[in-house]
Amino acid sequence: MAEFSPMMKQYFEVKERNKDALLFYRVGDFYEMFFDDAITASKELDLTLTGKDCGQEERAPMCGVPFHSCEPYIAKLVQKGYKVAICEQTEDPAKAKGLVKRDIIRVVTPGTVIEPTMLDETQNSYIGCIYCEKGIAGLAFCDTSTGEFVASTVKGKDIIRSIKDELLKFSPKEILISTGVLSFKELVPFLKEKIVCSVEALDDTDFDEYNANETLKKHFDDAIEDMLGNSYSKESKLASAALLGYLERTQMTGLERITKIIPFAESEYMSLDFSAKRNLELTETLHEKKRYGSLLWVLDKCETSMGKRLLKSFIEKPLVNVGKITRRQNAVAELFDNVQMRIDLRDALGGIPDIERIMTKIVYGSANARDLISLLSAFNKLPEIKEAIKNSESTLMKEQLSELNLLEDLKDLIEGSIVESPPFSVREGGIIKEGCNKELDELRYDMNNSAELLSGIESRERERTGIPKLKVGYNRVFGYYIEVTNLYKDSVPNDYIRKQTLTNCERYITEELKEVERRILGAKERSFALEYTIFEEIRKQTAKHIEQIESTARAVAMLDTLASLAQTAFDNNYCQPDITQNGKIIIKDGRHPVVERLLKTMPFVPNDVTLDSAENRVAIITGPNMAGKSTYMRSVALIVLMAQIGSFVPAKSAEISICDSIFTRIGASDDMTTGQSTFMVEMNEVAYILKNATKDSLLILDEIGRGTSTFDGMSIARAVLEFVADKKKLGAKTLFATHYHELTVLEDNLDSVKNYNIAVKKRGDDITFLRRIVRGAADDSYGVEVAKLAGLPASVINRAKLVLKELECGKNDAPKKQAESEETEEQLSLVPEADEIREMLRSTDINTLTPIEAMNVLVKLIALAEK
Ligand code: ATP
Repeated sequence: MAEFSPMMKQYFEVKERNKDALLFYRVGDFYEMFFDDAITASKELDLTLTGKDCGQEERAPMCGVPFHSCEPYIAKLVQKGYKVAICEQTEDPAKAKGLVKRDIIRVVTPGTVIEPTMLDETQNSYIGCIYCEKGIAGLAFCDTSTGEFVASTVKGKDIIRSIKDELLKFSPKEILISTGVLSFKELVPFLKEKIVCSVEALDDTDFDEYNANETLKKHFDDAIEDMLGNSYSKESKLASAALLGYLERTQMTGLERITKIIPFAESEYMSLDFSAKRNLELTETLHEKKRYGSLLWVLDKCETSMGKRLLKSFIEKPLVNVGKITRRQNAVAELFDNVQMRIDLRDALGGIPDIERIMTKIVYGSANARDLISLLSAFNKLPEIKEAIKNSESTLMKEQLSELNLLEDLKDLIEGSIVESPPFSVREGGIIKEGCNKELDELRYDMNNSAELLSGIESRERERTGIPKLKVGYNRVFGYYIEVTNLYKDSVPNDYIRKQTLTNCERYITEELKEVERRILGAKERSFALEYTIFEEIRKQTAKHIEQIESTARAVAMLDTLASLAQTAFDNNYCQPDITQNGKIIIKDGRHPVVERLLKTMPFVPNDVTLDSAENRVAIITGPNMAGKSTYMRSVALIVLMAQIGSFVPAKSAEISICDSIFTRIGASDDMTTGQSTFMVEMNEVAYILKNATKDSLLILDEIGRGTSTFDGMSIARAVLEFVADKKKLGAKTLFATHYHELTVLEDNLDSVKNYNIAVKKRGDDITFLRRIVRGAADDSYGVEVAKLAGLPASVINRAKLVLKELECGKNDAPKKQAESEETEEQLSLVPEADEIREMLRSTDINTLTPIEAMNVLVKLIALAEK
């Protein structure tokens, strides 16, 4: 068998070290993929599969992408969960002797993307690591694109749930796990299907304690101990070190971007599980998974992507500490009240680029001159921001003011050396300003003035030799030369060196001409190289300021988030809630922040809420479908959540006692992925809530028990209600919507339960939704009326009314009655047209019909009459 070509041998050697990644192997202006990688990539990227000679009889399957536009291809592969190993030429091919040396410069994995073009600017992109031992789990998360590194520890009876909750706060794109974690059977499917991230089990050696300490010390020096404090567990240390080790293996450069580990204490945040996050549509809508229609959509008036990311993390991690919430709230209040400060601040924030992600590119060495100019534009805005908030009084605002570093020196360095609109490439010159570097200026002079230099030599030599027709010329073989016609051959001075003889002339060179040639021909190349060196130095200088720039970026993000909350509060007429720990949630004229924004034709009807730890612990809410029960309950949950992130809330006034968690059980959600039925999912969720909620939790329970037979459902609903209402068992504040009117008797049996209903007005067969919550149980379900509103055929509605009447009269011998009523229905169906005509006429409101619509109604009526 023939040998593989030397290049293929090199390829195999690199591939051997990166078996789990698709290898992008740089050849000239392309990244090429071979063999199985080529087959996979061609399928996933829709590329043509070709072949390359590899020394064998058969060509190696191959496909490729241009290196200068490789990002979208890498992004696509990484999004699909692949790793991409970038193999670069590590020496200049022009200077290489034999085969060009190549090596891996980075492995891009789903959680380690740093290129802004491959990321969503409004969200962090985390990679996480979980280590678990003896019921304690250490977790670490890093956003390599911003350098944020967070670590936490979870323990407790339901460790899997706690890990899941923690994961939901970060929604990582990639997760590394220890083998111990694999024993939690349901965790890996949860990661893959719910969090939608790629999962990799690391070796046990990656979690070795001695190595972990060494890795952390090497990266953070001795600062590591202070950084972590006492709350840091052995488990989270192991997870952090394993994650850092993985990043070292895949990123290779730029890890100095990670400057500290932030210990993340679970107890500092409200616990929000998967259902709550999903059902409350915090950052995306339930069904369409869109930002439009979510709470984030309403609250986000941020001017910068850093602010957008921070606001999202605020929403995903509401606080539970009154002091911390009040600090944020006071800052929002200051910006709410001081209109001028808010306007000036938001103006100054407008157009500030993503400093955090640019910094990552700078530290990684992949930033170009445009990135530095972009950073400069941010520096230029900083004085404006400082000016806007210089008189701020709230603690949090003052802290941000002191964190903003004007970075004058760095600003001067970039401003003084990089041109205003540099090109994309850093290797082709045009980056550095005139006057920054003497050598560069000379090189540029040589490049731009070659004609002048040559004509200078020509006229000087003519004068020196007295040869009038002496000419300086150029050809590719001999370079620059002095040409003298045969007539003047004898007047040529001794220092001329003959190079070429033609029929009517001789060509010479001189030392001076050789020197000028060297200068002219090398100037371009050398000036480009020198520009790159100068640029690289500026980039390095900038990278050294990482800590100051980072704290400035954090302050910008915080100011932007606070200003966004203040602006939203102002625009939407929110109020500042009182944050307490007295167990009461009292809201006057509360609204649903999203529904009120989406309603176009009618105003949102505000409602009050009273929940406490005594006689108003549980509210049973009855009322017809479509009356607004869900909207009401969700609005309470969202108001509580908004209050706990430090935001103002959509209400006239609100007193919110801190909730440690919000649990929701809303709607049907068949979990096909776990093969569970709607009812089973519902019961699982209820079980989880009853097990994990505390007396300080807020429970939103919508129609518990509806997924099974009436009696079973009602019994379960009642038992759940009794459990949550009983302070010896749970005693959590609960909003409980139900169609089982029978449950409203509980108000008489349990002191902590109160009945409410959403009022409707009934006139004849029609009902109008008033959207008002009032005390007491609803008198009726009005299910048939709502079905009529929904447009069910008149015959079905009539039949339903009959059945309902029979059931209400207590005639429970259903089969017989069914047959009887079928007869009635048949009689009815003999005159369907008349019935439909009557129905149509009755439901027609001539006051609201346009002439065209009236014509349409008439046409339909005639058609019915003619049937
Ligand atoms: P079901 O029992 O069928 O689930 P529901 O009682 O939970 O119904 P919602 O889904 O809360 O009803 O509300 C139905 C619609 O009524 C909402 O989509 C919204 O458009 C409107 N609505 C609800 N509450 C209000 C309100 N307070 N003011 C104005 N419109 C409202």
